[in-house]
Amino acid sequence: MDSMTFVLFGATGDLAKRKIYPALFNLFLDQKLPKSFSVIGVGRNNCTDAEFQAKVKDSLYTFSRHLLNDVSKKQEFVKLFHYCQLDVTDPEGYHKLLKLTVKHEEEQKIAENRMFYLSVAPQFFDVIALNIKRSGLGTTNGWKRLIIEKPFGHDVSSAQALNEKLSRTFEEEEIFRIDHYLGKPMVQNLEAFVLANPLLKAIWNNQFISNVQITASETVGVENRAEYYDHTGAIRDMVQNHLLQLLMMTAMRIPEKKSSYDIRNGKREVMESIRPLTKEDAQAQIVRGQYLSGEIKGQPVVSYSEETGVQAQSKNDTFIAARVWIDHPYWKGVPFYIRTGKRMQEKITKIVVEFRNSSDLDSVEIENTKPNLLTISIFPNEGVSLQLNSKSLMSGKIEPINVHFSASQRDLPEAYERLLLDALSGDPTFFAHWEEVESSWKWIEPILEAFEEDFVPLHHYTSGSMGPDAAQQLLDEWGHRWW
Ligand code: NAD
Repeated sequence: MDSMTFVLFGATGDLAKRKIYPALFNLFLDQKLPKSFSVIGVGRNNCTDAEFQAKVKDSLYTFSRHLLNDVSKKQEFVKLFHYCQLDVTDPEGYHKLLKLTVKHEEEQKIAENRMFYLSVAPQFFDVIALNIKRSGLGTTNGWKRLIIEKPFGHDVSSAQALNEKLSRTFEEEEIFRIDHYLGKPMVQNLEAFVLANPLLKAIWNNQFISNVQITASETVGVENRAEYYDHTGAIRDMVQNHLLQLLMMTAMRIPEKKSSYDIRNGKREVMESIRPLTKEDAQAQIVRGQYLSGEIKGQPVVSYSEETGVQAQSKNDTFIAARVWIDHPYWKGVPFYIRTGKRMQEKITKIVVEFRNSSDLDSVEIENTKPNLLTISIFPNEGVSLQLNSKSLMSGKIEPINVHFSASQRDLPEAYERLLLDALSGDPTFFAHWEEVESSWKWIEPILEAFEEDFVPLHHYTSGSMGPDAAQQLLDEWGHRWW
């Protein structure tokens, strides 16, 4: 891997502490970082290198997946870190950052390869990109790359405006948009799983699949994010990015010789084939919900409207279920159901593929036979299970049996670790391309308008349930049920 400087904006923030430092440390221990590697942490407050290194070290105790008996390794790791205090809105500060970067590059013989990670609030994305360009930080003899976190815009026009601003400094190939769901091992496995199994590849279409269900439920409520979440809702926070990414990964068709281009192209094709919605369609295809009080794991919890920071009479969505149609010959007539919500019964992320029942069975047998189900578990356990039908050796009746594989959790690299390694290596496969982001906002936009105009009813659900009854009715209409 090329030597490089990793410039981290937001170095004293929560994401850096919980995800980025532990991920870098794990890569360091696994000897996956380049030989010459230097991190410059940028933050608003004053801090010496030693204080900054102590903060980084602290985060490793709490958040690293590696047991840290070896203190010298930690010490060796944090020596890679340096601090630069600057206000990201102040153009002058960037000259200091450039000087520091060049100094370390010269001292440590690092080529002018610069990775900029923006772990800051989204309103700073464009101003930082602009200042990287103006200050000369972005003018290098090597490469430059940008990693950014969600949210990428608030609707189509803000996402386009942001992209236009970023593209004045960075080319599309230089921008790595993190969607951490794409870093999850079972999600990365999806395309290989279908391609490497002729059995699945042959039946991955509407002839054999009845419907697909993607669930990402949480037990937590709005926590301390009400200010942000009350203007965002599940539709922007989860559906526009994570759930549509899971849908693209499940539905994409890719050639046997797969490359990063093939995967992104396959995903783009899915996104472009998703049937657009009008506001009227949104009424029929989308269920929006908001949690009431209830119990989570035996503990009473308050309703969304009682949460601190939520506006009085807020109609914000904490739950979304949707029926999505993909107008592609492979998927004609197969509904893709997606659902996500807060304060639900369990925290789970999974994809369930329900197969059609055999037409060779007589009608009585069909009624008694459960469908074949392929369940891809993403969280909390990584695994796959397949529900088949088998004749009971005792009763002679057809009964469902489960074939199950569960990946060992121990030492599985985390999403951020995988994604950081990919970005450091310049592999864009599991990052969201601008075309995917833009087309997902375009699909979402009429839903946002329908919500704003109160065109889609708001259903309430009890905390600790699996969402409002209307989410079940959405499937009943097509003779399906949530698995
Ligand atoms: P945070 O508020 O904890 O940290 C923000 C960082 O930005 C701090 O280091 C702060 O010093 C710095 N900062 C703020 N204003 C500054 C200024 N004017 N000049 C210089 N530095 C400034 O935020 P966070 O939770 O770490 O989130 C960072 C980004 O990651 C956000 O875009 C957020 O939406 C996204 N994100 C966070 C998480 C998470 O788990 N925390 C998850 C997904 C996405």
